[in-house]
Amino acid sequence: MCSVVSKTEKQNQASKRWKDKNKEAIKSYNQNYYKNNKSNKARYDEYNKKRKVKVECCCGKFIQIQNLKKHMITSIHGKRMILKECRPVSRL
Ligand SMILES: [Zn+2]
Repeated sequence: MCSVVSKTEKQNQASKRWKDKNKEAIKSYNQNYYKNNKSNKARYDEYNKKRKVKVECCCGKFIQIQNLKKHMITSIHGKRMILKECRPVSRL
């Protein structure tokens, strides 16, 4: 299940270009979305509840589920995975 996911430099540049190109559209979409859903408190509460749920990564760190993918490419995760593999079996 666990694997190190990393974006290539090419993908990063492509997503940056796309964001720059669609800057105005993204901004107006977000503003409209906020206006349309501002009054929907139940939906916001549900989202906030989901946000607070923490899951355990395979490296042993507890993180919010929406940060899991980003955490996978951090150096912290990489170091912890290396440490985990180097540990004696009895300590796991
Ligand atoms: Zn991790």
